[in-house]
Amino acid sequence: MSKIIKVKARQVYDSRGNPTIEAEVYIKNNSAKAICPSGASTGTFEAYEKRDKNNKKYLGKSVLSAIKNVNSKISKKLKGQNIHNQEKIDALMINLDGTKQKTRLGANSILAVSMAVKKLSAKVRRLPLYKTFLVKNNFKLPYPLMNVINGGAHANNGLSIQEFMIRPDRAKNFSEAIRICFLVIQNLKKLLKNKGLSTSVGDEGGFAPMINNNNQALTMIVKAIKNSGYKNGKDVSICLDVAANELYKKKKYSIHSKNYLSVDRAIQEYKKIINKYKVKSIEDPFAENDWISWNRFMKSIKNVQIVGDDLYVTNLERLKKGFLNTSSNAILIKLNQIGTVSETLEVIKFAQIIGFKTIISHRSGDSEDTFIADLSVGTNSNQIKTGSLARSERISKYNQLIRIEEELGKKARMNKIH
Ligand code: PGA
Ligand code: ZN
Repeated sequence: MSKIIKVKARQVYDSRGNPTIEAEVYIKNNSAKAICPSGASTGTFEAYEKRDKNNKKYLGKSVLSAIKNVNSKISKKLKGQNIHNQEKIDALMINLDGTKQKTRLGANSILAVSMAVKKLSAKVRRLPLYKTFLVKNNFKLPYPLMNVINGGAHANNGLSIQEFMIRPDRAKNFSEAIRICFLVIQNLKKLLKNKGLSTSVGDEGGFAPMINNNNQALTMIVKAIKNSGYKNGKDVSICLDVAANELYKKKKYSIHSKNYLSVDRAIQEYKKIINKYKVKSIEDPFAENDWISWNRFMKSIKNVQIVGDDLYVTNLERLKKGFLNTSSNAILIKLNQIGTVSETLEVIKFAQIIGFKTIISHRSGDSEDTFIADLSVGTNSNQIKTGSLARSERISKYNQLIRIEEELGKKARMNKIH
């Protein structure tokens, strides 16, 4: 009954209009499908995204060879496997690939199948997806880390910091959390308009005004929070993703436009920003191999969430290294950085054992697939980072969480930020 008959993949398009892979897994009388996302500011140690670099018809961006791998090798290997045995299925694909970064089959082909298997298993068991991960009861909703201004690789405005986000720390429930973000975003839009700045949005749905000064962006967000009737740093906190890999050259960081700063100066600057704008969370303040600076930063500040994204790439070995090195106190979780659902869950489990906050994340190239919304609830993750209240590939995750909250009814609780 629950045995895989075949797996089929097709080329669809992501939110940036680039080709990506959708896999569909079939058992008798049933099937489920999933779409793989894609990053722009990717870490060196991420699992490999297979693209047909020589296919000029798609400017080297098609995923047809990854699709071929699903339709032939993966489909053949998984035929007859029990849909509910996620770990075995993932292990079969990992072994079939046989490389450290999934370069042979491509992590995009493996992940699309892995997610589709998970969805189909839930469907067959007639369970909502969020009930099939780690948590069995007392489900909690994550706080949204909502993107409000885009910079870095996600916009072409010259802002060096990649993501300026807000987090409604005192929201009593998820729907209220989104309402608060909605108000701040509307007020920010007004401020931008009044200054004659563009209110068009970047890849993750945050505004991408033509400003190239972090302080100007931060000042406007503080104002928007105030104009919405909230206290910055209390009701709503500002959170940043520096994505410092992109700003690193010869042991220096250009965290403010073109001016490269030493690590000492960068730490001073971060501290200034944290104090002045009451920033509560900073992601990737340093480059993926600069372990010493991560540790120095961690030791020098208190009460700020330090998040490793490109540093850990959802990889257990790197997370262990970061833990021993006291590099951060939180980890960003992206399924396609590692390439299977099982490995992702292993990383989340370990992170929670060592007391790290887990933040489930979209990619800048994403889709209508809402898998990560369910994953955030099903793993008791504190936060979810899935863009702004713009662009349906971002909003679809928020809407799914609103539905989950409604379904949980009186049992629904928010997770703990502190
Ligand atoms: P990416 O950006 O998906 O382009 O890598 C997201 C992030 O850096 O968190
Ligand atoms: Zn990041």
